[in-house]
Amino acid sequence: MDADALLNSIRDQSGDTEFYLPMPAGYKPGSTKYVVVLGTVMSGLGKGIFSSSLAKCLQDKGLTVAPIKLEGYLNIDSGTLNPYRHGEVFVLDDGTECDMDLGTYERALDQELTCLNFTTSGQVYRRVLDRERTGGYLGRDVQMIPHVTGEVKNCLRELAVASQADVVFVEIGGTVGDVENAYYIEATRQLAFEEGRNSVCFVALTYVMEPRILGEQKSKAAQLGIRRLMECGIQPHIIACRAQNAVTRKVREKIALFSNVPPDRVFSMHDCESVYMIPDMLRGAGYDRAVIEWLELAARIDEDGERRARERWSQYVSSLRSATRQVTIGITGKYTAVRDAYASIIKAFEHAGVRLGCRVQLRWIDTSELNDDNAAEALADLHGIVVPGAFGTRGAEGKIACLKYARINGLPCLGLCYGFQMAVIEFARNVCGMEGADSTEIDNECRYPVIDILPEQKKIEGLGGTMRLGGHDIQVKEGTLAGRMFGPRTRMRFRHRYEVDPRYLPQLEGGGMVFSGKSPRAEIMNILELPQSVHPYYVGTQAHPELTSRPLRPHPMFLGLVHGALCRAYADYDEPLEFDTPASSTPPTDQRQPTVKPAG
Ligand code: GLN
Repeated sequence: MDADALLNSIRDQSGDTEFYLPMPAGYKPGSTKYVVVLGTVMSGLGKGIFSSSLAKCLQDKGLTVAPIKLEGYLNIDSGTLNPYRHGEVFVLDDGTECDMDLGTYERALDQELTCLNFTTSGQVYRRVLDRERTGGYLGRDVQMIPHVTGEVKNCLRELAVASQADVVFVEIGGTVGDVENAYYIEATRQLAFEEGRNSVCFVALTYVMEPRILGEQKSKAAQLGIRRLMECGIQPHIIACRAQNAVTRKVREKIALFSNVPPDRVFSMHDCESVYMIPDMLRGAGYDRAVIEWLELAARIDEDGERRARERWSQYVSSLRSATRQVTIGITGKYTAVRDAYASIIKAFEHAGVRLGCRVQLRWIDTSELNDDNAAEALADLHGIVVPGAFGTRGAEGKIACLKYARINGLPCLGLCYGFQMAVIEFARNVCGMEGADSTEIDNECRYPVIDILPEQKKIEGLGGTMRLGGHDIQVKEGTLAGRMFGPRTRMRFRHRYEVDPRYLPQLEGGGMVFSGKSPRAEIMNILELPQSVHPYYVGTQAHPELTSRPLRPHPMFLGLVHGALCRAYADYDEPLEFDTPASSTPPTDQRQPTVKPAG
């Protein structure tokens, strides 16, 4: 029976039906394919990296893919989450504050995502409750099944319609067995039933243990995890076995035997040297072929395109491995104990390093205890520093001390968002003679509030989703370093409440600070730099360039910093600093309409 006939048979024309099947306009069941990735046994297996690598394998074949991450938590978005517990908050061009996995997808697929690519239980429930309040359920008692699950399927289908993708790639957060994700799993089970045969491919990521005392791989936990999934009514089509070492044939056969998945679809996914090698590892094992076969997509594949995409990627991987030079960059932050809090910065350095043929070693420097007396010692033998984004007061003075040291000693330096604001404070205090300059985020009563709350932010109450968020165009000043990087305009992503108070511009510019990027619409300073006659590389931005750096398109601000670091580290290094033509970086588009999630 095809999807249409099936749906007609379960749709009761009288309206008094147990099924609840909202379909976005223009959606045709059975015409979009879905890959659903679920985790079993435990979290932390790298589900996002696995899913994005598999999605990339399909994209390389010429298929259009649209990923979506379904988060179990009740927060409406990730904006209020502590990076210490959850990793960095990633920001999309349309202003969505989301899980860092969306960054993994954007980088792997080199694709801009929107709010349609991310949802949380909070959003799903809000839509259901809003619909209930407006009488949308026609007198029915509103239930987890079919109404909440119906809303989840609706989200997936809305993405299918908006993206027109060949394959919607669904990553369910958490692990099978978690209470908060159970209804997502149930929704995808229903989806598979409604879309018809070979429309949904379930991929279960599991874990094969190898206890040191036994010295062999054990599959019991994996078997039980898959069994748990089958208890939810889902028969996986592919099983990916995360493990330290390649999973043996014997273990894969055992898992196959217990899960009704043929052994040639139970794959190993063991640790490898670099995450960039995973797409090729998946291809080598045959994951992509298995998905294509199950979803019957063979006719849509572009083999030549795939060869070219693979060549570009393997060039990237081999330059990553063959880099001969090395620089050490300090990250002066306060979440230095949790690397995930700086995930995009780490990636942006990888991208820039590969382009310049060098390995970028990162050193984590906690600024909470730093001051003018010990900053020199903490920064000795570094070739550059990044002062990253932050909120609140802790570590601020330490950052200011680092920026002062970098400015005076010609240490290449990049300030990001809060780091940009601290650079302005340091310059005001120590160059422009404005003793007591500060940010009102730190000291509301300070003598020179050079960083102050954005006028539009003054009237806002509440914390969620209220910052100046998302992609904004930047007008760049000709004849500056930023002008060389971007041409007359660029676009970057923002997440802030405070800004440089334009009242102090004459003093700051009089002291020699150059504001080389501004908002075209308001007096908001976006990029600062010191002239290269004064300092080899001193740049700051109110934005977050790390969010838009991509493996094959490193962000110019990180390229500049790594180049500066190379010049400092190697006396014989004389490669000129070249930027991609501005046209190849993210195009500025004032006309860009923010994506808005359809009302429930
Ligand atoms: N706390 C600062 C602000 O709100 C900087 C934010 C950030 O670094 N993302 O403006």
